[in-house]
Amino acid sequence: NNFVIAIDGFSSCGKSTVAKALAKKLHFVFIDSGAMYRAVTLFFLRNNIDLLDTDAIESALENIHIDFVPDGGKLQILLNDEDVTEEIRMMYISDMVSEVSAIKEVRHAMVAQQQKLGKRRNIVMDGRDIGTTVFPDADLKIFMTANPRVRAERRFAELAAKGETVTMEDVIDNLAHRDHIDSTREESPLRQADDAFVLDNSTLDQEQQLNIVLEQY
Ligand code: C5P
Repeated sequence: NNFVIAIDGFSSCGKSTVAKALAKKLHFVFIDSGAMYRAVTLFFLRNNIDLLDTDAIESALENIHIDFVPDGGKLQILLNDEDVTEEIRMMYISDMVSEVSAIKEVRHAMVAQQQKLGKRRNIVMDGRDIGTTVFPDADLKIFMTANPRVRAERRFAELAAKGETVTMEDVIDNLAHRDHIDSTREESPLRQADDAFVLDNSTLDQEQQLNIVLEQY
C-alpha cells in the first residue's frame, strides 16, 4: 500500500521546506497543494472571474488543468501547460489566494485532484486541510507552527530575495489576513487534526526538523 504524509499549518510556518526535505529523503513525491490554489487564483485574475458568480467559477474550473513536473531538483507547476512557478509566488497572488480558496466549488475541485495525485504512490503533501479533509487516513500527520515574528521574517526574506518590494508590515498583514480567512471559512477550515504530531519550528534548523519528523515515521 502507498504511504501518505500530510503536513498542515498556518502560512509561512516552514511546511514546504520540511515537506520537500522529507520527500527527498524518503523518495516520496512532494505535492504543494497551496500552489494549486495559487494557480487557480492566477487563472481567475487573468480571466476576470467574478468570485460571486458560481456558474462562471464552475466553468472556469473545468478549464483549469494543473500539473507538477520535476525540473532538476525542483518542481515546476504548470497551469494549462504554462510554467507559472514564479508567477504564483508574487504578492498580488498571495493577496487574493485565500478568498479564492474559501470558495466551496474551488475546494471541491482541488481536493478531488489532490486525492487523485495521492493514489497508488507515496507522497508528502503540504497545505491547510490535508490531514483533516484530503487524506483523513494519512499514515503520518504533522501540524507545523512557528511564532508570528519568525514566520514574517522568513516570508519577508523570501520575497526580498525575489526582488519584490514589500515592507515587513505588508507581510505581517498578509499572513494575518490569510490565517484569518483560512481558519474561519466554512468549507474545510484550517484545523489541527486530532492525531497530528505538532512541530513548532521557531527555534529549529532544517536538519533538526527533519530528524524530529523522521522519528515519527
Ligand atoms: O501554502 P501556501 O501558503 O502557498 O498556500 C496559499 C493559500 O492557499 C493559503 O493561504 C490558503 O488560503 C490556500 N490553501 C488552502 N488549502 C490548502 C493549501 C492552501 O486553502 N490545502
